[in-house]
Amino acid sequence: PQAFDVDRIRADFPILAQQIRNKPLVYLDNAATSQKPSSVISAEQLYYEQFNSNVHRAAHALADRATIAFEGARERVRVFLNANSTQEIIWVKGATEGINLVAQSWGRENLKPGDVILVSMLEHHANIVPWQQVALQTGATVQPVLVTPEGDIDLDDYRSKLTTKVRLVAVSHVSNALGTINPVADMIRLAHDVGAKVLVDGAQATPHLMVDVQALDCDFYVFSSHKVFGPTGIGALYGKQALLEAMPPWQTGGEMIERVSFDGTTFNQLPFKFEAGTPAIAQAVGLTAALDYLGLMDRQAAEAHEQALLARATEVSRDIPGLQLVGTARNKVSVLSFNIDGIHSNDIGTLLDQQGIAIRSGHHCTQPLMSHFGITGTARASFAFYNTMAEVDALFSGLQKIVKIYG
Ligand code: PMP
Repeated sequence: PQAFDVDRIRADFPILAQQIRNKPLVYLDNAATSQKPSSVISAEQLYYEQFNSNVHRAAHALADRATIAFEGARERVRVFLNANSTQEIIWVKGATEGINLVAQSWGRENLKPGDVILVSMLEHHANIVPWQQVALQTGATVQPVLVTPEGDIDLDDYRSKLTTKVRLVAVSHVSNALGTINPVADMIRLAHDVGAKVLVDGAQATPHLMVDVQALDCDFYVFSSHKVFGPTGIGALYGKQALLEAMPPWQTGGEMIERVSFDGTTFNQLPFKFEAGTPAIAQAVGLTAALDYLGLMDRQAAEAHEQALLARATEVSRDIPGLQLVGTARNKVSVLSFNIDGIHSNDIGTLLDQQGIAIRSGHHCTQPLMSHFGITGTARASFAFYNTMAEVDALFSGLQKIVKIYG
């Protein structure tokens, strides 16, 4: 395959050219948030310079332009997920808000005492706590599916817990803490066999994998713009149209109504029924630019490049005395989680930062997973397509230095 031109790609991301503490920035915290190409930054600037107006009240030219751009962004997301219709794409603040919407709208309407919500042990808190809340409200219970020592979802445990009491399975497409790619297509098929719906948390999958919600046949899918090289403050919820039609509104107010009177209020059609208030318009425009950027990229080559970074990082990690990898699943995106004997993960993070290297340390919003492994956290390096082999080497020479200081 043709070599992936990382240098050319890096030139599109102005932030990467920075020095931090007089060292070139090595940004390896992409699972927390990704950097933005110039096209995203300039799309937002252009929006504010030439389009800025409120949407869906097209009494004047600017409002018209803003609405066209905003609804164009929805169509761009539809294509990105391969949804059937833009009516199935609901704007939210991000993955977290998308999950809360489904929990509070679908969950409150459909769950009753005795019902089970199955989540996996490796979920982000965003895909656990909203289900615990709706369980408290409805009398349903939340049950965790075990993970193997390698960090895969234990499919035998999944099958055994997938009874007809299960109304919903909530599972991440990719684990943020470990990078495991979960076999969601199989899990969805099995869930549908017992009549359960499935929500897939795609926050960590969308930056790495091509997603097709129709091929997956998931009932709901959520992602956050800021993880896919777009702006913060926006994301999308995909839901199958029939499910969304039957769900009550969650947040209420302007935009989501059809007619309001003191005798009662009727609600707007999809997707607006779920979009109360002025939405994140500039961010939607920025997200369009981000998805266009990804659309022009050879995503297979990008993924191959990321896998090469992961393979090298995994390989050289063996040379660090006392380093243990956490999460060694065969199917992984480019995330390396680890601990080093005798050094707290937060200290690894701080000492790397002094060398201009940005990683994340701690529990990664996955406390149940960390307790399952008997640890309190990990150091996590997460690679994007704009990272280089030289940066992988910088990480590991940084770790060598730290181990020497502690040794
Ligand atoms: N799920 C996963 C797997 C994540 O990694 C994250 C972000 N760390 C979220 C959900 C929440 O995303 P956001 O904070 O953008 O709503």
